[in-house]
Amino acid sequence: MLFCPKCSQEIDERDNFCRRCGKSLKPGTGFWYSHSGIILLTLVLGPFALIPVYLSKILSTTAKTVYCVVISLFTVYLGYVCWQIFTLTQQMLSTTLSLPY
Ligand SMILES: [Zn+2]
Repeated sequence: MLFCPKCSQEIDERDNFCRRCGKSLKPGTGFWYSHSGIILLTLVLGPFALIPVYLSKILSTTAKTVYCVVISLFTVYLGYVCWQIFTLTQQMLSTTLSLPY
């Protein structure tokens, strides 16, 4: 017989979550593997959020595919923005350096 580590409620070993308090009981079912967790990870870590998407036991295959596409696009966009900032900084630096003082 198993018990929830958080609220000591008796749990079924096939359960992914505690029926009483909702605590995740198996790896791949915690907050970071849920929709909100993965969105948060994507914003913070970018492409590294693909790891919990891959490991998650909560998300359906469709959701995983969607997340893979979204995270890839987000990574490309992030790279584009970084490149823009880089070029802009270089332009600003060269303008500043060539000022006739
Ligand atoms: Zn519980």
